[in-house]
Amino acid sequence: MHQLFSKEVEQDFLRRGFSRRNFGRLASLLAGGAGLSFYNEPALAQLSNIGALPADAVKINANENPVGPCPEALEAIARVSKNGGRYQYEETFTFARTLAELEGLKPNYVLPFPGSSDPLHRMMLAFTSPTKSLVMGDPGYEAGERAARFIGAKVHKVPLTKTFSHDVKAMAAADPNAGVIYVCNPNNPSGTITPRAEIEWLLANKPAGSILLLDEAYIHFSDEAYGSDLVAKDKDVVILRTFSKLYGMAGLRAGAAIGRPDLIEKIRSYGAGALPVTGMVAGTASLTCKDLVKTRRAEMKKLREEQFAFCDKHKIKYIPSVSNKWMIDVGIPARELNQKMAAEKVYIGRSWPAWPTYARITVGTPDEMAKFQKALLKVLGA
Ligand code: PLP
Repeated sequence: MHQLFSKEVEQDFLRRGFSRRNFGRLASLLAGGAGLSFYNEPALAQLSNIGALPADAVKINANENPVGPCPEALEAIARVSKNGGRYQYEETFTFARTLAELEGLKPNYVLPFPGSSDPLHRMMLAFTSPTKSLVMGDPGYEAGERAARFIGAKVHKVPLTKTFSHDVKAMAAADPNAGVIYVCNPNNPSGTITPRAEIEWLLANKPAGSILLLDEAYIHFSDEAYGSDLVAKDKDVVILRTFSKLYGMAGLRAGAAIGRPDLIEKIRSYGAGALPVTGMVAGTASLTCKDLVKTRRAEMKKLREEQFAFCDKHKIKYIPSVSNKWMIDVGIPARELNQKMAAEKVYIGRSWPAWPTYARITVGTPDEMAKFQKALLKVLGA
């Protein structure tokens, strides 16, 4: 079998229902050493916009933050880059310690990563298998689903409720052999919340042996409480943090998996190289930048509500969101809308098979949103 793993690890995989062939495939993937990149938001966005975008394109398709990193993060990057010939592991430890302290956790509950795609994929490799399924909301963020399918796990997609939250009762009942129950809060693509009480219910009633994976990529934009206290109570929950959204560091890369040490140990064992020191120091600077979350959250809320007012005024159907994106339904297939908007050099987000007439729009700068509104009215012939 593959030399990357010890005999014990190989045995563990076979016990989890993997075939030798499946295991070999996974071993080769990990041996590549390039990280577990099945898909991430920009790659998924690109699937709906083939080719290079024009220089003056309005790019509101990948839930990026056009504001970018805060000035303190930029200063930290400039400072540390001069010494970029060294690994500087201590900056990663400082990042983990700072994040742990802010989340009310011990440092060994935080495992840093270059963004949250990597730990999202690892969670699937560690906790799903051909006999342990993934349960997720529909529509939901697809990256975990792709990783789970890659290793032969079943995926149960449970429709969101009428109020667009995760249907926790149906998710808990979906499969007694669930390995991971994935809740994205606020959800991608809908930008809607699953209330805290429902998440607590799910944790108390999920199948034995399953892990709740709480993806809080967009939580900073909302007024919801983070789930870190559930981790502090040593529940079967792992939280994903990313600096790609509110902190504006999608290209710089920083993130973390937060969970009970025995749970995050399982994903650490897939190995990880040194993390980019630029992302680590920018992450620490962002975390310690006073009122950054509060200010950016308020700015996003204002811009988002302006978009809802525009939709109301022009009788455009939409789903109210608490995130940096929202979904509109203009009554034509979203793919068609996508193409028509692209002809106006406005690149909106993709659509989901469960809701084919809804397109996801990322909230960009005021200038970008003015161009979006103008193009949309033109496309709709209004
Ligand atoms: N989780 C969700 C819900 C996302 O939307 C994204 C990206 O858009 C990610 C995770 C991964 O982002 P990153 O790897 O940039 O942290």
